[in-house]
Amino acid sequence: MIQGSTELVAIVGSPIAQVKSPENFNTWFANNGRDLAMIAIDLRENALDAFLSTLRGWQNLRGCVVTVPYKQVLATRLDGVSNRAKALCSVNVIRREPDGRLLGDNVDGEGFLNAARRQGFQSAGKRALVIGCGGVGSAIAYALCEAGVNGLVLDDVSAERADGLVERLGSLFPAQRIERAYESLADFDLLVNASPVGMGDSGELPLPAAMLESLQPDTYVADVVTSPEITPLLEFARARGCTIQTGPQMALAQLGNLGAFMGATPLEIQP
Ligand code: NAD
Repeated sequence: MIQGSTELVAIVGSPIAQVKSPENFNTWFANNGRDLAMIAIDLRENALDAFLSTLRGWQNLRGCVVTVPYKQVLATRLDGVSNRAKALCSVNVIRREPDGRLLGDNVDGEGFLNAARRQGFQSAGKRALVIGCGGVGSAIAYALCEAGVNGLVLDDVSAERADGLVERLGSLFPAQRIERAYESLADFDLLVNASPVGMGDSGELPLPAAMLESLQPDTYVADVVTSPEITPLLEFARARGCTIQTGPQMALAQLGNLGAFMGATPLEIQP
């Protein structure tokens, strides 16, 4: 029940009906007796200025999760952002300080690492391939560099995007080996699909069949796509005996990071 004393958090994007954060957060708030609620905001782009000014003055709102298509544009419009959000030019969460200043961070990469850790996979020292170098792929690649992977290969249907990310991460993590070329999946400990390939009922795989044949059962295979939960890639990997990580697992594993940044939950929560 939202009452006069209830403090709010929000999620903003467009469209918004598909997001799961409100039910996840509101379930946690209810189960843990918090006088807090999350609302979902479907915002028109031409209302962004008014929205930011409203956020600054909205005294019973602690913060706001940010989703497509506003992650990049909002990163340039806040009063301060974390180093990683600055490097990624993208925020997925905003905190409103008591004086109205808005601070941003991007915890997509943390969600990825948390989900992997929960299944016993540690990224440090591992060799990783990330397919898709857009918003979420960049965040995962950044987090993998921070976690100390031993070699990172980046791929994208847009060579320009992949080359750009190799260059950006290379300057941020000069000791890290970041490459573009690979001929087989055999020597990767971690394979991540961070592209939208496999969404809906497309049945598509992000790699050619011949390349997938080289996938080994000891490779940890993750997908960011949330629907379907078991993508064609994950289905293939599971059939080969690989441990898999789903998009919903990654989304759930960053709930505490989002909530803690907004001052609404502890860092470690299970919805
Ligand atoms: P984006 O558009 O910023 O990036 C997608 C990238 O994938 C682009 O660079 C594109 O060129 C590349 N790509 C497309 N087809 C490809 C192919 N066949 N092979 C290689 N690369 C290809 O999108 P985004 O914001 O990064 O989102 C990507 C997906 O991640 C979406 O499906 C989104 O719903 C999902 N997502 C999941 C979570 C989660 O927590 N599970 C979080 C954020 C986003």
